[in-house]
Amino acid sequence: MFNALLNFFYPRICISCGNVLLPQEQFFCLHCLYNFPETRYHEFDDSPLSQLFLGRVKVENVGAFLFYKKGNQTQKILHQLKYHGVKEVGEFLGNIYGTQLINREKWKTIEMILPIPLHKKKEKKRGYNQSEWIAKGLSAGMQIPYHTNLLLRTEFTETQTKKNRFHRWENVKEVFHLTDFNALANKHVLLCDDVLTTGATLEAAIQKLLAVPSVKVSVATLATAQ
Ligand SMILES: [Zn+2]
Repeated sequence: MFNALLNFFYPRICISCGNVLLPQEQFFCLHCLYNFPETRYHEFDDSPLSQLFLGRVKVENVGAFLFYKKGNQTQKILHQLKYHGVKEVGEFLGNIYGTQLINREKWKTIEMILPIPLHKKKEKKRGYNQSEWIAKGLSAGMQIPYHTNLLLRTEFTETQTKKNRFHRWENVKEVFHLTDFNALANKHVLLCDDVLTTGATLEAAIQKLLAVPSVKVSVATLATAQ
């Protein structure tokens, strides 16, 4: 009764289309849920995403759940996830994506998930790290643990959106460090982040990880513009 009243005054709406949600719907209406702009890149050996890291760093698999375009529903989702405190939608979508990934042979050997850390200042301001919530969802969907204490961020980088690839790389190359080589040695690690654009941030993290003996690295993000 209380929930019904609450919903009457503050209706829950779909993050993508703004329609009022039915009681059994969460974050998205059924229509949007079945019409996500999925990339399905994880189903192919070769994709624009694997090309992105070619000749830069060695990665086993690269996947991104959704296509990101200006004005599309993925942009709205990312906006809610990053700037409106709707962190749980990262977990929700990570979970869906995780159940897809774990069905593919090449993704089954992954043993742990590491979210790309935010700088502490930024995390404090936002109250959470959105990549950590995606990792949480992937972890549930794949039934693989995630760790937030193995890969850490060290220094603050200024906002990177207006810089070219070279400058971005210069900015991010020293921002990550690993806390425990032994925990990572001989492991197949899945790095996760919210968006994959130039791959510069992920590349810096991968580079760090590849210094660990016999480590393998895969990448999964919620969205990509590629
Ligand atoms: Zn909808």
